[in-house]
Amino acid sequence: MEIRESLKLPRGIADSLRVLIKIVEAVHRSSDLKEIYDTALDLVVQLDKVNMAAIYLLDDSGENAVMQSHRNFPEDYVTHASVIPRGSGITGKVLETGQILNIEDIHKSDEIGPAGKRAGFHGVLGLPILLGGKPIGVIWFARYKEEKFTRSEVELLTTIGNQIAIAISRAKQRQELEEKNRNLSILSALAEKVHRSADLGFMYETFLEVTKDLGVYDAMALYLVEQDDGGGRAAVLKLDKGLSEDYIANASIVPESEGVTWRVIKSGEPLYYSTASLQDNPLGPAGKRLAPKVVFSMPMKYGLQTIGVIHFGSSEKASFDKSDLKIMLSLGNQMGTAIAKVKMLDESRERAIELENLYTDLKSTQDQLIQSEKLASLGQLVSSIAHEINNPLTPILGYSQMLLVQTDIETEKRDRFLQVIHQSADKVRKIVENLLSFARKDKPRREYSDVNEILESSIEFRQYQLNPENIDVVRDLDPDLPKTMLDSNQIQQVFTNIILNAYHALASSRSQEARLEITSRMNDAGMIEVAFRDSGPGILADIQNKIFDPFFTTKPTGVGTGLGLSVSYGIIKEHDGNIRVESGPGIGTAFTITLPVLDIKDYLGVDKEEESVPQPGSVSPKNGRSVLIVEDEELVTALVTGILESDGYGVEVATNGEEALSRLGNIDYDFVVCDIKMPQMNGKEFFKRLKAMGTGLEGRILFITGDPSTETLDFIEETGNRFLSKPFKIEEFRDVIRNFG
Ligand code: ADP
Repeated sequence: MEIRESLKLPRGIADSLRVLIKIVEAVHRSSDLKEIYDTALDLVVQLDKVNMAAIYLLDDSGENAVMQSHRNFPEDYVTHASVIPRGSGITGKVLETGQILNIEDIHKSDEIGPAGKRAGFHGVLGLPILLGGKPIGVIWFARYKEEKFTRSEVELLTTIGNQIAIAISRAKQRQELEEKNRNLSILSALAEKVHRSADLGFMYETFLEVTKDLGVYDAMALYLVEQDDGGGRAAVLKLDKGLSEDYIANASIVPESEGVTWRVIKSGEPLYYSTASLQDNPLGPAGKRLAPKVVFSMPMKYGLQTIGVIHFGSSEKASFDKSDLKIMLSLGNQMGTAIAKVKMLDESRERAIELENLYTDLKSTQDQLIQSEKLASLGQLVSSIAHEINNPLTPILGYSQMLLVQTDIETEKRDRFLQVIHQSADKVRKIVENLLSFARKDKPRREYSDVNEILESSIEFRQYQLNPENIDVVRDLDPDLPKTMLDSNQIQQVFTNIILNAYHALASSRSQEARLEITSRMNDAGMIEVAFRDSGPGILADIQNKIFDPFFTTKPTGVGTGLGLSVSYGIIKEHDGNIRVESGPGIGTAFTITLPVLDIKDYLGVDKEEESVPQPGSVSPKNGRSVLIVEDEELVTALVTGILESDGYGVEVATNGEEALSRLGNIDYDFVVCDIKMPQMNGKEFFKRLKAMGTGLEGRILFITGDPSTETLDFIEETGNRFLSKPFKIEEFRDVIRNFG
């Protein structure tokens, strides 16, 4: 009114401007699309010569222009033309060109469909609604009169139409943004929860909880591919929403290749279908009975593999719009990755278990291997021992037989035979001794020992192997080497092993000169040093640090066990010594062992023992003294008595402990020779009783044992006395009794 009066505009124009201003105000006030359409169309039809108006917008698929609101269009038109496929009719033309379309009389135009022609208008003006320069809809203005919209009318309506279009596109943008926000918050809630969990059950619950008010779909079925009992595959229903009991009863397991579920699994592609429009509805019978109008089926992927399918369906919506599809796709992907993660975790757990089983298998195979290697080396040892024993047995059997058969043999000859028999038997004794030293695994039993002697017997033990290979063993042993406390059996084991390794190295290399040099000396640090230098091929630099590892061997199965050097290392370390190797290709190999010089006091580390443990060699035998022998074996008694008597001792024999104890009151014995294993009272019991008598003799006993077990030897060590194991040599016996002053 005000405008018209002040500007004195003609009435028609003034009215038009008023409408325009009202429209501008109204449409920009609201952000609700429906309100914008209604206000705008209400005002538009107030304009002179505009009798009808309608707004069409493209749907999310972009395929159809859908009527959003109209004024005065007859019902028949609305029924037939509320959805216009893209590209058809004049609506399609405006959308296509993005240009205004002004038609004077629709009845003269062949572009108008029958519904339009029946609608009762003649002149029509179509304006494109643009968003970002692209047509997204059309506003139609129509008049009953057969009259083209004039230029000024077109201008005015274009201005009005543009305002409406701006308002619509702004509202649409805002709506999309809000939807996106809502979807995003749903997705992030889902993502946060499901990706933190490794529990499928919890993930399913979360999915239902987060999406319950989404309103995008009303039915949902989530299937995972699993192995079925028959070794094939099946899709198994894991999660559902809005499904009928009938569906669950019939379609919770879908065997491979059946229905739309397997179509999606096999192709790995999503499928969007309207059940009404598709001639052959891809749903199976149970799905069909659910009667959704529209379904979106999407694969869940784990890498290239499809691990399952989610079907989203709606029995209300005729179609899913773009944003519906987008959110379903995101939901499906979120679930897919989360499930894949759990599967991966399960797989890696399974793999860990598999690995553990594999390790156990491997370990037992390795144990078996070690066992078989041990057996192989035992076999080798046994055959070499047999060979070793057979040698001395031959003269023993031969000569003894000759002695038995030839009764008239001359004394000289008989003595020679006997000597050979004796020497050979002694050899057997040594072999058995060596064997025992190999077999023993006891803790070190230290004795005051001569390293050179151990070296000699070690060489002797291997001689039968070294000789046939023409290996030249060169000794350079220091005769003044002091004795030291060590376990001679164990040290011999070390020496024989190093000699055996040298033998293997020399025998395998077939070099012209096969030489093993063995030296002993006192080194500058005051330690006994023993070196074995062979002229073999040497040890490669990169395995030198491995040769002391248990089971490291470069020798074929049955020859090497890889235990020799590791055991040797342990023995030398236990003796507070050192073992090192120097080697190089072409220069041979040298193993050097150092051992501390310890006397018995150093070894025991106590002064109080001083009196009861005499120093070796410090006391010479004193004839005329008396000795008590406690022994039940006649032959041993006879031998010991014989030696003692020949050395001038007076000897008393008791065949059991009780008898021995009863004699103690009568004679002042110098020392006692006592067996350990005796009937009635054994050596241990005898020692206890003797000690209780307080004669002081308990520190002057020579124990004789046929069973040098750890227990026995520990006992003897505790008593601080000496021992000899049967069989012993006369010299050894004499050596020991020399110590009793
Ligand atoms: P085994 O003799 O059963 O293999 P060892 O522990 O005694 O086990 O030795 C380990 C490895 O050290 C041998 O397999 C060999 O490769 C190497 N070795 C030891 N001594 C010598 C040597 N004198 N010359 C060359 N190699 C040696």
